[in-house]
Amino acid sequence: MNPNENFMPRFRTREELEAHQLKGLQWTVAHAYNGSPDYRNKFDLAGVTPDDIRSLDDLRRLPFTTADDLRAGYPFPLRCVPFEKIVRIHSSSGTTGKRKNLCYTQKDVDDWAHFFARCYRMAGVTEKDRVQIAVGYGVWTAGVGFQAACEKVGAMALPAGPGNVDLQCQFMLDLQSTVLCCTASMGLLLAEEINRRGLTDLVNVRKVIYGSERSSQSMRQKISSLLGGAELFDITGLTELYGPGTGIECPDHDCIHYWADYYLLEILNPETLEPVEAGEWGEMVVTTLAKEAVPLIRYRTHDITRILPGECSCGSIMPRHSRIMGRTDDMFIFRAVNIYPSHIDTIISSIPGLGSEYQIHLTRDAAERGNMRIVTEISEQENMADCQPLAAVLSKKIKRELMVTPEVELVPYGSLPRSERKSQRVFDTRIQDSII
Ligand code: ZN
Repeated sequence: MNPNENFMPRFRTREELEAHQLKGLQWTVAHAYNGSPDYRNKFDLAGVTPDDIRSLDDLRRLPFTTADDLRAGYPFPLRCVPFEKIVRIHSSSGTTGKRKNLCYTQKDVDDWAHFFARCYRMAGVTEKDRVQIAVGYGVWTAGVGFQAACEKVGAMALPAGPGNVDLQCQFMLDLQSTVLCCTASMGLLLAEEINRRGLTDLVNVRKVIYGSERSSQSMRQKISSLLGGAELFDITGLTELYGPGTGIECPDHDCIHYWADYYLLEILNPETLEPVEAGEWGEMVVTTLAKEAVPLIRYRTHDITRILPGECSCGSIMPRHSRIMGRTDDMFIFRAVNIYPSHIDTIISSIPGLGSEYQIHLTRDAAERGNMRIVTEISEQENMADCQPLAAVLSKKIKRELMVTPEVELVPYGSLPRSERKSQRVFDTRIQDSII
């Protein structure tokens, strides 16, 4: 393995990148049109043919693809190649009903490992590293994604899998893992456990590559400090778009570089589906440029982010987006105010003395009046008696920023459940019957 191989494309200018993107878009549209009756129908309905794609701006003439299209085409939705070309299936749970199954050709699998290896390189992982992969294996994209790319960069993979805290601690201690790959919640759980067992000085985790859920600033700080100053890298991805590894935080930690040579990113207003102003928040919509088995055309991810204009100080020409702020579908409306859990998260993080774990409970009282109760932990160093005034501080701050007043309940550090997967933050029991 050439230690200088960074798996980056050889483009030097934006123009070269755009020429590559246009070629990829034209190939993808023709491939989808010719390969999938479902795509062809969608294009026919939209009145567009592959010949109409002459510039990157013509992307906007193409119809959207959604999770419903994946559900409708179950079990092999939007398949554009014969079965003989498919070498692997991955699957993720849908929010309702059927699983989302995705097919991969050998080239898809190779491309994915290639740009995922780029993520490891951007995080500074080399063949000297020992990478503890504490994410799900099986039909999920996580385990095999982290694993294949780890081997590609020549690092030592420790496929610990999810859960099993004893094994994780033992690996970190005995095998001296230098990189930990996990969800943010799992990272916090393991960092706390290492600290509780008095192992902080005996383990050697320098980097934590975490993904698949949002994380607060205070959560990041906590994980880092409990692991003796480990550097954190937020990695992005979704099963529909290969899996994890479609972008990563750079060593300058100024948000996420995404792999614009493999997919186009649009940021749209989720209501109007029109582009937002440069730098504004909106829904991430992706179009693949090289994906064979199941290309995505204007796929609505429901992830909320924004493009960061301008060059990054790290020197990479790959464009950047912000960390995922939330989902269009986990936003909740309370007293007519649109609220993202990540916003509450940010407010809690800004108050010294409060911890990183919290829950938002939305209920309705006998008078049908909605209530929002925020249960938040105090930080580890604090005691409950001293912290009581913080409840009012948090409530006031939320009132100021979000125009709603929640009840706040403080609980001791460690009393909310830690999850090995995604922690549930919002408990909404306001609507008990079916929604029409
Ligand atoms: Zn950068």
